[in-house]
Amino acid sequence: MSLIRVNQSSVTMSAWSGAAILFRFLKTATVAEVSMNTSFCDRDIISITDFSREEILHLCEAGQRMATLEKTGKRNSLRDALKYRTLSYMFYEPSTRTRTSFNTGMRELGGRYDGFSGTEGTSVMKSETVRDTVTMMCANHNDVIVMRHPLDGSLQWAADVANIPVINGGDGKNEHPTQALLDVLTIYALKHGRLDGIRVGFGGDLSHGRTVRSLSLALSHFDNVTIRWAAEDFLGMPDDLARLLVSHGVRVERDSSVRDVMRQVDFYYMTRPQLERMPGVTQKDIAAMMKQYRIDPPKVDGFDVRVLHPLPVNSEIAEIDYRVYFTPAQAFFTQAEFGVFLRKALLHEMLGHEGYRRYDGRLPAELGVGNNRLPRGILGAKQSAMFIDKIHDGTVIDHLAPGSLRAVSDALDLENRGYSCTTATIPEKSNPFIKTNLPEPSERDLKTVALLSPEPTIDAIAGGRIAAKFVYLLCANANCITRVVNEDVPPRFYRDRDAVRCRYCRRQYSITSRKATEDEKSSWIASLPGGIEPVAYPD
Ligand code: ASP
Repeated sequence: MSLIRVNQSSVTMSAWSGAAILFRFLKTATVAEVSMNTSFCDRDIISITDFSREEILHLCEAGQRMATLEKTGKRNSLRDALKYRTLSYMFYEPSTRTRTSFNTGMRELGGRYDGFSGTEGTSVMKSETVRDTVTMMCANHNDVIVMRHPLDGSLQWAADVANIPVINGGDGKNEHPTQALLDVLTIYALKHGRLDGIRVGFGGDLSHGRTVRSLSLALSHFDNVTIRWAAEDFLGMPDDLARLLVSHGVRVERDSSVRDVMRQVDFYYMTRPQLERMPGVTQKDIAAMMKQYRIDPPKVDGFDVRVLHPLPVNSEIAEIDYRVYFTPAQAFFTQAEFGVFLRKALLHEMLGHEGYRRYDGRLPAELGVGNNRLPRGILGAKQSAMFIDKIHDGTVIDHLAPGSLRAVSDALDLENRGYSCTTATIPEKSNPFIKTNLPEPSERDLKTVALLSPEPTIDAIAGGRIAAKFVYLLCANANCITRVVNEDVPPRFYRDRDAVRCRYCRRQYSITSRKATEDEKSSWIASLPGGIEPVAYPD
């Protein structure tokens, strides 16, 4: 779906805020007062970094209005707003709150929902790709997709593929933007509309989850924000995230104990250990690591702090002791209901307009093409004979990592596919290479090579001469969807100020090739788009 921003919202903070809004709205709310902002119309919701401060505030106000309708007995006053609209939920990973709160929002707006929760019983079990499964949800005349998937970047890919808007319900350990929005809404409501100057503590597992990343980046839109955290090194705040926050003016401080954090914050955001993303680590290991960081009554006693948690709490580790549930500090169940208000408001803003998008069974050609080939300027040169026979037409896979030759040639399996395969390691040159009469390696071949030996140089040989030469680049984030060969996601990058980032997981990419010259690298970087440009779908 293309990212349509009709215009940027302009939100002035109303004098009404927080609980005051809830109260004053009590007698007066009407459907007409639930105003909408066109900038969310049919828009993909992929990363919290795509939102402006004004847009976040606008959604807080819209969420508050949904809360007011509920608290004043007007739950169903928007029951025709999304009549005949259907939400498709695609949950490749477990979910309770995200899925059901979107469904509740849809139901209360008069829409419907359908989909899958867990891949059992779907064709994902028959190795269907994300691209094909997402396309089926478009073919089934849905109006919006909410998806959760274990791979980082899978939601940007889904959004590129779908001709309807896509909402990220969590992609790997990357992002969970609607969780961040509902967390901010909770803080906004409990602090009577104040977000500037807010002080938030983070605990539990800051390293393997997506909620801390998305919420802290959402908070970075506000002035004078302080984030404090206390956790084991293994579960601590990732350096790249801390650096990004600091570059956005957030004060990030590590404390040695939970009580030190509690003393200095307005909210404490606890998270569960994300064991599903720590292969080989047991509950017992984690319990030992988290022992001193669990939230129990002595850690909150005496502080004016509210404890938030995206939930679920892991009952074995019990990172929040059950006794805290009965204290005034507990705010995570209120937070969960704010998830319903926020998602209901978001769906209303995205879909509350006339018309629908027709499915036409075709995909834009650009979904098949990456921009990850760094051209090298040695065209027309004669191919070097270098101790082995020249090939007349075919491919040289060059500059392989020392020691990787065997693994690469086994994985390509060229001879069984009917091609020649000459492997060579030249003593005084550290990088081995392969010569083959394979005319053009497929994207899958190139990915297979790059996964085993990053940044190979590829020479296309025609008539004994080098017809094309490029370095093949692949995102270095091990959990990025572009690295899963069978998903066929063409690697794409974009420029973000001085950095190069993967279009899908948005992680920074640094070219390591010592073979490409600085000029070649700079001209490839200059050729990249300056942001995540939408995939164009005809209306
Ligand atoms: N429900 C949240 C998520 O999906 C938090 C969690 O699972 O720990 O990221």
